[in-house]
Amino acid sequence: MSYQVTWAAAKLNKNEQSKLIEDGLDVFRDLPELVKRPFAEVDKSYYMYFKFAGLTVQKPQEQGNFMMRVKIPGGIINIKQARHLAAIASEYGHDQIDLTTRQAVQYHWIPFAKLPEVFAGINAVGLTTQGAEGDITRNVIDNPLAGIDPNELFDTRPTVRRVHRLFQGNRDYSNLPRKFKISINSNIYNAGNAEINDLAFVPATKKINGRTVKGFNVKVGGGLGMRPYLGLGLDIFVTRSQVPAVAEAAVQLYRDNGYRRSRSKARLKFLIQDWGVAEFETKLREKVPGLATAGASAVIGWSNGTALGIHEQRQAGYYYVGVSIPAGRLQAADFSAFVDLAEKYGRDELRFDHSQNLLIPYIAAADLSAVKAAPIFKKFSYKPHNLVDFGTTCTGAEYCNLAYTHTKEIFTPLLKRLDTQFSFDQPVHITLTGCGNGCAHRSVADIGIEGLTAKTKDGQRAEAFKIAVGGSLLAGGHFNEVLKGKLFTSQLYGALAALLADYQTQQLANETYYAY
Ligand code: SF4
Repeated sequence: MSYQVTWAAAKLNKNEQSKLIEDGLDVFRDLPELVKRPFAEVDKSYYMYFKFAGLTVQKPQEQGNFMMRVKIPGGIINIKQARHLAAIASEYGHDQIDLTTRQAVQYHWIPFAKLPEVFAGINAVGLTTQGAEGDITRNVIDNPLAGIDPNELFDTRPTVRRVHRLFQGNRDYSNLPRKFKISINSNIYNAGNAEINDLAFVPATKKINGRTVKGFNVKVGGGLGMRPYLGLGLDIFVTRSQVPAVAEAAVQLYRDNGYRRSRSKARLKFLIQDWGVAEFETKLREKVPGLATAGASAVIGWSNGTALGIHEQRQAGYYYVGVSIPAGRLQAADFSAFVDLAEKYGRDELRFDHSQNLLIPYIAAADLSAVKAAPIFKKFSYKPHNLVDFGTTCTGAEYCNLAYTHTKEIFTPLLKRLDTQFSFDQPVHITLTGCGNGCAHRSVADIGIEGLTAKTKDGQRAEAFKIAVGGSLLAGGHFNEVLKGKLFTSQLYGALAALLADYQTQQLANETYYAY
């Protein structure tokens, strides 16, 4: 049975009023008829529904092309799915595949008239765009090394799959006040970026009846964007089998109590700030009785969910190859070259991390030399450098309706230039976003660059940026702090070079940018 919003309609924002008329997931019912008419005939008030199908009308909006995001729970796909993702890019997406910071993939230029056939192809390989955007549970993220990680407490893949299936297409949870992000991870370096999710399961152990049980502690209410908040810990311990019930209860609490008047105050983080974690926990315990108090956290650091380089897996004799994809963008042929390698030497699997990179797991030691010699590694590196490989950037003004500035076009040349000048023994995370939203995790970056506009000397508006430094998700997290002033694009290199030179000269041995 679908959920019914009980708020008085007059108190609801426009999106909420629309969602009273039809459910967001009805977009899949509507599409076959809609595409029979020209896109120009689609009323703009309908654009909101496209989101629930993972679609955003791409600018210029009158052209009827879409940004399309495909959900990939835990960032793991098989070879057949990977081949299909490459085919979408070459057939419909101007040959571009963008990797996101939530282990999903994005396309641009998907034509309105082709949407039904594009969706049919995606569904045929067992993937979906349903809920990749919209006011609904989004792609469930995981440790990119789940199941092969020497630094995880246990394999989280089955739990991620269960939670994904619980919410997927479930009309009890398809009308949330806004998006809801879930992270499940047992890597001890916080590979699931717990504190920037609405609901995060983080690795912990607990003595229960004299036995040490491996499971999760829980954080709630994290989220980036214009008003970022870090997730706060509840005093509960959750076993693997309890995760779906706890996730469902948390989403119910949000659905039934989250704010629906103003979209800018609708994320769970605002409810948590008003209630406090204790009240949220009390209500959660009423829905899921018998939860133990929090266990001992197993988290000892922060990897930013990045898995670059060649490293031995938990399975002795097997290696994963983490490949840097600058700005997260690659062409279909390049993606196919990685799929070829995974098919020939791996085990029917490719993965995506949280920093817009890809991984090929299960390379046998005996095959490593052959894999390293593949021509694709002349273009994309498996030997990470410190800047271009660890940085992330969002879509920006090239396609995004909200952007003030371009991003990907600036980001890669800028960081590659800095890489010719600097070398660090610790990763430095630099992010560049085209506006103040949180799509590339700007607020927790070592150096976060946010696009805006500023007036030039002759009074013209031009793309500009502000810089913030010192963000991290170490030890519960800390947002970076904004430096004074704005910079035009041409000034970015000089400013970043100065910041990095300072770090280089003052850094103590192995000191991270955040600690310095
Ligand atoms: Fe668009 Fe802003 Fe998100 Fe970048 S951060 S993709 S500019 S909304």
